[in-house]
Amino acid sequence: MNLQAYHNIKDSLPEGVRLVAVSKTKPEEDIMTLYNEGQRIFGENKAQELKGKYEHLPKDIEWHLIGHLQTNKIKYIAPFVSMIHSIDSYELLKEVNKHAIKHGRVLKCLLQFHIAQEETKFGFLLDECEAMLNDPDFQELKNVQICGVMGMASLTDNQEQIHREFHTLHEYFNLLKDKYFSSNPDFKELSMGMSEDYPIAIEEGSTLVRVGSAIFGARNYGKVEN
Ligand SMILES: *Cc1c(COP(=O)(O)O)cnc(C)c1O
Repeated sequence: MNLQAYHNIKDSLPEGVRLVAVSKTKPEEDIMTLYNEGQRIFGENKAQELKGKYEHLPKDIEWHLIGHLQTNKIKYIAPFVSMIHSIDSYELLKEVNKHAIKHGRVLKCLLQFHIAQEETKFGFLLDECEAMLNDPDFQELKNVQICGVMGMASLTDNQEQIHREFHTLHEYFNLLKDKYFSSNPDFKELSMGMSEDYPIAIEEGSTLVRVGSAIFGARNYGKVEN
């Protein structure tokens, strides 16, 4: 846990850029430490872990689900989640809408795009996403609110490549805004940037940076992250 890093990052954010503190795998005490410094937005990548933390921690925390979401896990988070960054298929969005109806909520969602070179990362391709947005049934999804886009750059030291990938995501954002959301003020978020690349993401127009290890320290995994 590095509170100095937390404050340095917070202080470096331009106006209009918000920090999602990514607390996945980290204990609740660490979340409380940041909470006591004023942090309110936390991100997790697993629905069940998110639910457990939600239950134990203060209710004014805004919980963001940032990792790949399976349809059978939506039920764990639908009652309370503040934003889902990882909508990567039409199927998933429809299911999220169903759960939102069940709880009488409108769930804020971001459309995740595949912008990295790695095959393993999740996300829409632009064509696929436009097919969804052009589908007449899309308009019937009244309990999801599309607030923007999300993407992860390649894991690389090549700064130009990272710039290019975030730039592409920003272009997708602009295109979708013009074509589908021009009269919708809620469509305004560009979720991009992690510990290693958030300064580049900010240069490319990020509004939500998702920073974990730079604040909480390295994570220990038994398996590979997605
Ligand atoms: C883990 C994770 C992050 C944070 O990664 P760090 O490198 O620890 O900052 C951001 N976004 C997503 C989708 C993640 O899974």
